[in-house]
Parts: sequence; structure tokens; C-alpha cells
Amino acid sequence: MDLFEHQAKELFAEYGVPVPTGKVANTPAEAKAIATELFAAGSKKVVIKAQVKTGGRGKAGGVKLADTPDEAEALATQILGMDIKGHTVHKVLVEEGSAIAQEFYFSFLLDRANRTYLSICTVEGGVEIEDVPHDKLALIAIDALEGVDAAKAREIAVAGRLPEVAVDGAADIIAKLWTVFTKEDATLVEVNPLILTADDQVRALDGKVSLDENASFRQPRQAELEDKAAADPLEAKAKEKDLNYVKLDGNVGIIGNGAGLVMSTLDVVAYAGEEFPGSPKPANFLDIGGGASAEVMAAGLEIILSDPSVKSIFVNVFGGITACDAVANGIVAAYELLGSRGETVDRPLVVRLDGNNAELGRQILNDAALAGVEQVETMDDAARRAAELAAVGA
Ligand code: GDP
Ligand code: MN
Repeated sequence: MDLFEHQAKELFAEYGVPVPTGKVANTPAEAKAIATELFAAGSKKVVIKAQVKTGGRGKAGGVKLADTPDEAEALATQILGMDIKGHTVHKVLVEEGSAIAQEFYFSFLLDRANRTYLSICTVEGGVEIEDVPHDKLALIAIDALEGVDAAKAREIAVAGRLPEVAVDGAADIIAKLWTVFTKEDATLVEVNPLILTADDQVRALDGKVSLDENASFRQPRQAELEDKAAADPLEAKAKEKDLNYVKLDGNVGIIGNGAGLVMSTLDVVAYAGEEFPGSPKPANFLDIGGGASAEVMAAGLEIILSDPSVKSIFVNVFGGITACDAVANGIVAAYELLGSRGETVDRPLVVRLDGNNAELGRQILNDAALAGVEQVETMDDAARRAAELAAVGA
């Protein structure tokens, strides 16, 4: 999960990393009120910053300086609603403006290729790190067990060729950011720019943090950081039901067991769809995992059926520990369960059962003779049939 800049800075502040004072505004009037407070507290300028989870906001016109509360309001009017690389701006951060003497770059990240943590530091900050010549970057690996103490932090700042006047301040921030990185289970903590102000203070002017969701079980308070407005409503509903669901933009609903099988099902359906008018594509990824119980099958069908773009559904199961007869019984029971709730499966279902107890599973589905359910023996043929039904239904 990526954080907004204002969330990253709030986190930094908790760990003692100096950041400019500021608050989030949802409307121009709120922006003006915050700006008024900041000017009253002595700010010479205030900065209005688009809060979107993408970089390059400055270049896109999403970061602007104001000299008066009225100007802050006018700039907020301009920035709110702006589209930056496909992200709509719903809120702005209104901050005391900084007098910048120099901009640096600093980050901690997970270096998967080398199976270690890595710090990147350079005096050439403020621009996209990809655009900085490689020989200007200090890349220093961090031992997970040793971590970053004051000496290591200083080594990083010096290696990044930060000016002498900034080294102490930067090293202090680097050591604190390591605490953020480890305590918050982050995979990225980036500050671009880390600045030296006109009065020789070092502070974080921007912040990008990615949190490792695999650690969410031990980070309960991080749940509040999630951007619920941006979450897909179906994905949110699926998450509540513990389903491994990802919304896609096609019209063939997909249910399978095992992430690998579901991934290849997406490919096969997309490929088969090319034959048909409108090129039907997968509407979702849904892995119902090993234990395909009636409840899980019903929950999966319910989510997929509540997606109005779905025109047909492909259930692709390779029986393993959960054998095909159990899956077939799950489908039958799911139809009963949905029926008892007054919900009907009103779109065609193509089922392919293979693997453990496939014959028995097919027999169960044949005997049940559910309306709109048809069985196809191979994965390719079943994908083609599901795509054809979606093309007809579209
Ligand atoms: P990004 O473009 O999305 O990375 O947004 P940043 O927060 O990094 O801001 C982009 C640039 O705007 C920075 O590199 C600064 O040059 C400039 N900037 C941001 N805040 C201030 C400020 O308070 N004062 C001044 N003078 N410039 C700022
Ligand atoms: Mn930046």
C-alpha cells in the first residue's frame, strides 16, 4: 500500500523527522483557512500540493506557492479536480513554504535482486531519480541485522556528497527514517527532495512510503491509512469475504482454484475472446483456493454477479486435495444458497472440471441440471464457449 504525501509526512513527524507544518484541505475554503493560520504563525509563503499517489506533481502544475490566503484559495481551486497522470486530485496539502537552498535525494528500499536493503543518496535531488547519472548516486546496502546507526547514517550522507553543512542534519534524518522503515514494515521510504533551507536546516519536503501489506497483521493501525475512496467497491466487498479477487475491465467472470490456474485462465479467455465480436475479456481474477466450499463458491458467484459488465462466467477447476465432486457440490449448494436469498444466477455458467474425481463431479452437475450451467471438457474449449456467450450477451 502506497501512502499519500501528507500521510508519509505525518508518519515522519511521529518519528521526529522534521517536515514543514501543514494540513490537508478538501475544498478551496479549507485551503484558505489553513493558509490564513500559517501566515498568522509567521510563514512568508505557503505551498499548495496536490495529494495523488504519483510522482511528478510539480511538473504537472500540482505544486504551487502562494503569497496570500486569497492566492492559496485560488491555487487550491485550480489544483483540486486536476488530473495528474490519471489520478484525480481530491485533496491538497497546504504547508508553510520552505526557502530552499539545495535539494537532495534520499531513500531506503528493498533490493530484491540482491536480497538486501538498500539506501540511495545523492546531492542531485528534486529531479526524478531515474534521470540522475548513475555515478552521482551513492548506493549503500544495509545489513538487516545491523541496521542504520549514527555512523552508518553519516556514511550514507557523505557518500551522497551532501555538503558539509547538511551532513549532520541529513544523518539524523536518515537514522530516523530507518526506524520508520523497519518499525512500519515499509518496502520504500523516499524523500525527494530532502532540502537544505536558506537558514541551514535539513528537512523532508516530500515523502513517499510503501507499506508491506504482508505485515498488516502486526500493523493494525495502518488499516486507517487505506484510501477507501479509491478502492474498487467490488474488491472491497470481496476483501470483507476473504476472497482473493481483483476487478478487471472485461465481461467474462472467472472463478478458478489456485492462483496459477486462474492466471492462465485469464490468458486463455483473452486469447479465445479475440475470435468473437467485441473481443470479450476476463472481468476479474478470483482464486477460490483449495477448499472450494459451497459458502466460498456462493460468495464468489455473488461478487461476480454483482458486476454488471459480466455477461458469462467461467468456472475452471482442477481437482486436487479438494476433489471435483466437492466443487460440483459446492456449485449446486451455491445455487441453492443464492436461490434461498432470492438471488438467481441470471447469466450463463461454463464449467470445466478436471483432475481428482472429475467424472463424479461432472455427474453431480449433470444430475442437478442447473439452469444456464453447461460443462465443457477442456480448458481451451470452455474458454471459447464462455467468450462466445459473453459476446452474445453483450
Ligand atoms: P513531486 O513533483 O510530485 O515530486 O512533488 P514535490 O513535493 O517533490 O515538489 C516538487 C518541487 O516543488 C520540489 O522539488 C521543489 O522544487 C518545489 N517545492 C515544493 N515545496 C516547496 C516549497 O515549500 N518552497 C519552494 N520554494 N519550492 C517548493
Ligand atoms: Mn518529490
